[in-house]
Amino acid sequence: MTANQTHNPLPTGNDISLPWHLRLPAPLEQDFRYYSRNSAAGAASAALILIAILLVSAMVVESLVGTDILLKTWRPRLFSLMVTGGCLILCHQPRWRDWLQPALLALSFTLSLSGIYLGVIIDHPLSWVFFLQTPLSVVMISTLFRLPLYSTVISTVLMTCALIAGLFISTQSTPFEHLSLALLSLAFVSMSLFGQYVYERLLRKHFLSEHVLYQHRDELHTANQVLESQATVDGMTGCINRRGMEARLNHLYHLLKQNSPDAPERINLLLFDIDFFKQYNDTYGHPAGDECLKKVSAVPLSMVQAEKDFAARYGGEEFVIVLTDSSFNDALVFAERMRNRVEQLGLPHSGSRVNQVVTISIGVSCSDGGADNGDALLKQADEALYQAKGAGRNRVAMMNNQGQVEMLT
Ligand code: GH3
Ligand code: MG
Ligand code: MG
Repeated sequence: MTANQTHNPLPTGNDISLPWHLRLPAPLEQDFRYYSRNSAAGAASAALILIAILLVSAMVVESLVGTDILLKTWRPRLFSLMVTGGCLILCHQPRWRDWLQPALLALSFTLSLSGIYLGVIIDHPLSWVFFLQTPLSVVMISTLFRLPLYSTVISTVLMTCALIAGLFISTQSTPFEHLSLALLSLAFVSMSLFGQYVYERLLRKHFLSEHVLYQHRDELHTANQVLESQATVDGMTGCINRRGMEARLNHLYHLLKQNSPDAPERINLLLFDIDFFKQYNDTYGHPAGDECLKKVSAVPLSMVQAEKDFAARYGGEEFVIVLTDSSFNDALVFAERMRNRVEQLGLPHSGSRVNQVVTISIGVSCSDGGADNGDALLKQADEALYQAKGAGRNRVAMMNNQGQVEMLT
């Protein structure tokens, strides 16, 4: 990367443009509705209880103003209370949440229409107060419960028309009072609609920027996983590298010491080194040496099966194989089979003083032999390997329980 290149900053809500109608692309729109419906349902019970309290308080005030008024208002009030109760029940039934929005819309209609009805039928100088219930309930319900903007607009237009019609039918107030009431309601409702539009826009932008952030987080997570695996895999052979090996070995020892349910029964460690590899490079050249390393390392890679077992490149032309759970004897059989398979590859090695083909020497150690950490286990295998080399190469040596090296082949 050149000095001029910079990373693109993550987009924020301000970088994201929304169409005037605020609709998001199809799958996101659905997600947003789900998110918005769930967040509204969370606060819905408290808001519904508040509405029920307001309705009961209205009845108390009406009974204080005059029992003849209460006689006219109790039916629409009781009906509104029942619809409020129904919505309250729906809030607590996750299975029926889909019905909550239509039910709240019905509550908004009930409250608005009962206001118009009472304004028209109540014969009292204060009857205009009932009309105010209409804009108040439309605004209150759509704001408190975050009903979708389109249904808010439709119900607002419908209820405002019904209110104006109600005002014209009413004979209680003067035409001037009717006009001022209608204008007041229109101003109130349109300001609320504008506010809701702005709020909805902000909310949708926030939702979008969160969505973009989540996407970036997932991309970063995947990139991190790739980097992590690249950091622990040897590029040339595909084996785990030394860093990865040490981490895994230490983890296995940690599990073993903790007596964890995931702990292996034991850890067998095989350390092998190619015989006379310096001479191989000298004879065939370094690139051929690399090819040889790939072919030899493919042998343990193809033999390691169990989930916790692994083959690692310890360094240069030295490799480590860790076998968990298998017995020490099985690990020795594995080592002998591996030595044999490398020999069977038949890679010509005229510089070798032990064979005509490439061979390996192996040192084997086991956690049962007293090594209580990865380093100690490696040291024991290294000691066995050293003696295998000394005993002529192309052979397997093991560190026994008494801390002595024994030749297997
Ligand atoms: P010995 O039988 O005692 O192991 O003899 P050796 O010649 O193999 O000795 P040693 O193990 O010390 O030699 C390691 C050599 O491996 C030295 C180096 O040139 C070679 N080597 C290490 N890494 C690489 C590599 O990535 N590619 C190639 N081609 N050669 C490597
Ligand atoms: Mg070596
Ligand atoms: Mg060697």
